[in-house]
Amino acid sequence: LGGSISRAIQQMSNATIIDEKALNECLNEITRALLQADVQFKLVRDMQSNIKKIVNLEDLAAGHNKRKIIQQAIFNELCKMLDPGKPSFTPKKGKTSVVMFVGLQGSGKTTTCTKYAYYHQKKGWKPALVCADTFRAGAFDQLKQNATKAKIPFYGSYMESDPVKIAVEGVERFKEENCDLIIVDTSGRHKQEAALFEEMRQVSEATKPDLVIFVMDSSIGQAAFDQAQAFKQSVAVGAVIVTKMDGHAKGGGALSAVAATKSPVIFIGTGEHMDEFEIFDVKPFVSRLLGMGDWSGFMDKIHEVVPMDQQPELMQKLAEGTFTLRIMYEQFQNILKMGPIGQVFSMLPGFSSELMPKGSEKESQSKLKRYMTMMDSMTDAELDSTNPKIMNESRIMRIARGSGHQLRQVMDLLEEYKRLAKIWSKMKGGFKMSKKGDMNM
Ligand code: GDP
Ligand code: MG
Repeated sequence: LGGSISRAIQQMSNATIIDEKALNECLNEITRALLQADVQFKLVRDMQSNIKKIVNLEDLAAGHNKRKIIQQAIFNELCKMLDPGKPSFTPKKGKTSVVMFVGLQGSGKTTTCTKYAYYHQKKGWKPALVCADTFRAGAFDQLKQNATKAKIPFYGSYMESDPVKIAVEGVERFKEENCDLIIVDTSGRHKQEAALFEEMRQVSEATKPDLVIFVMDSSIGQAAFDQAQAFKQSVAVGAVIVTKMDGHAKGGGALSAVAATKSPVIFIGTGEHMDEFEIFDVKPFVSRLLGMGDWSGFMDKIHEVVPMDQQPELMQKLAEGTFTLRIMYEQFQNILKMGPIGQVFSMLPGFSSELMPKGSEKESQSKLKRYMTMMDSMTDAELDSTNPKIMNESRIMRIARGSGHQLRQVMDLLEEYKRLAKIWSKMKGGFKMSKKGDMNM
């Protein structure tokens, strides 16, 4: 996708006369690419006409950077489409919330319930899981296994066949136990059918969830819009989680789900494991969708912030997708040097929401400093290794002792590193330098 879009824009900027025809050709090319990424036809068409309104032919003709103007317009439009305008209900730690998961069978509900619970548990919540799937044989076993692995309390039954009854019992029990995040996993059917929606409606009516999360498999392609809409029509979907983003899926379905449910995507699933779960961030996602990254702004910043003699080396490493602890260390140094934290890296996937949430710059800054102190106790081999497995228990213990930190804190650092390394390795290829030292999309 990135390739064909950048080709289309390239052709356009090469054209000597930018007239309506050239712009249309470019937009048609982009339309094709977005459809291939599973963005719904109607959404693409709307976007195309919006872009035509935004992109002013006169600006293009006046010799401004055409590529940049169009690129920016597409980027902004896609971001806008992923923003339903209002945030979803956000559970509060220490206050009881009931969250119900819905979605077709196989979409990843049970897996995602556990990831969601685990994610919050790590942040000090008291989550609990309720299995209200009595349709699929083995559903309870699956949830039980997941929950046990993550040490999360669970409720379910092998005997009871009424999902409403189990859901209510489970929710009641965990309310009594003062759990603050009670998660209700429900059943799905292979197809969207009346019985499924009736069941969802009943479970929802009986448990009165504060939030209903629609779970969608990212590989369903053009079916996303209708599926999301069908769920929205029977239960009050308030948020979306898109799963299996690690596979071949191109992700355009997320736009459809937002449009159909008028609810934001809050997380994405990026693997089968418990921790393969990321907060959804609109800009990096759109970058990924377009295969481009917000590299133009990033490059400007890089030139300001990264010392000249470090630049080519960093670019080379980014292009290779190599992300060592040393690179992370150097980037933390750069971030801390530049004063207002996060300006550069907030443009890059992974460096924004989790590592440096808006409004807590001070904390982020001391976190980075703490991380760097720990990394000061690492050996060269550890800092330059591209194999995370090198960090065995005895090394971690040595680093903790050497830097005066707890094991847990070193583990946090390594987890952060793994998270960033994973994102960066996915983004490689997004970094290709042209001769001018400018990023190609
Ligand atoms: P449910 O029927 O909606 O409860 O779906 P499950 O949670 O049972 O998941 C169906 C399959 O999808 C399982 O094999 C999961 O391991 C897999 N799965 C779920 N989420 C992800 C994901 O983000 N990435 C990958 N690769 N597989 C996933
Ligand atoms: Mg399930």
